[in-house]
Amino acid sequence: MSAIQKGDLLYEGKAKKVFLTSDPDLVIQEFKDSATAFDGTKKDTIASKGIVNNSISCAMFKLLESKGIKTHLVEKLDDRNMLVKRLDIMMVEVIARNIAAGSLVRRLGFTEGQILDPPIVEFFLKDDALHDPLINDQHAVHLKLASMDELNHIRTKAREINEIMKEYFLTLNLKLVDFKLEFGRHKGEILLGDEISPDTCRLWDVETGKKLDKDRFRFDLGDVEGAYQEVLKRVVGKEG
Ligand code: UDP
Repeated sequence: MSAIQKGDLLYEGKAKKVFLTSDPDLVIQEFKDSATAFDGTKKDTIASKGIVNNSISCAMFKLLESKGIKTHLVEKLDDRNMLVKRLDIMMVEVIARNIAAGSLVRRLGFTEGQILDPPIVEFFLKDDALHDPLINDQHAVHLKLASMDELNHIRTKAREINEIMKEYFLTLNLKLVDFKLEFGRHKGEILLGDEISPDTCRLWDVETGKKLDKDRFRFDLGDVEGAYQEVLKRVVGKEG
């Protein structure tokens, strides 16, 4: 176990709190049960979501590290707390898509369920006031979010991460439809940050097509907690 102590609150987001620690290079992410959707207009609590998302995120970061992807994970501290390297987060959300859903259907008229081969990688500006718009590389460079080299790096990493995660989730009988990644800088390196969980991934059961992710909350599909627990059960079963 680490002797690291939780310090002052650095930042509170919609689903997580971030705390300083006695080590200036490390922070603690605490996962909350609160859930928001549609720019924060829909709000509720999903029982034990923080515990589920912390566990799944730790498992995913460990898997990715084992395949050579650099992440911010240091260690899981307890049910809700993860020790991570402090990042200078890039204000760009990276989305990878294997199957059309969500904003791709709403915005561009894709049919939900349409296979995207090769997968699509997109960048979105992290800016709530602007409703996180889709941007391209040139927008990102001019907005000084990242250099072109950095964007090429994170796009390549997103494709590698997608292949690793897609294969992994298939062994859990889950289709990885799409997911969001955030990257940040730490001591001259670009690391994968934030979380990887049913809040940030779309996951559909291979047999039944049942949605086992945040869409159950977004669209009031029912059994939200059960869906999160089901994904955790499959992840833990694989670890066990
Ligand atoms: N996503 C996320 N945070 C965001 C936006 C999207 O974690 O702020 C995830 C979302 O859960 C889905 C994927 O990224 O797995 C693609 O989301 P999409 O662009 O389809 O937007 P949405 O339909 O979620 O508004």
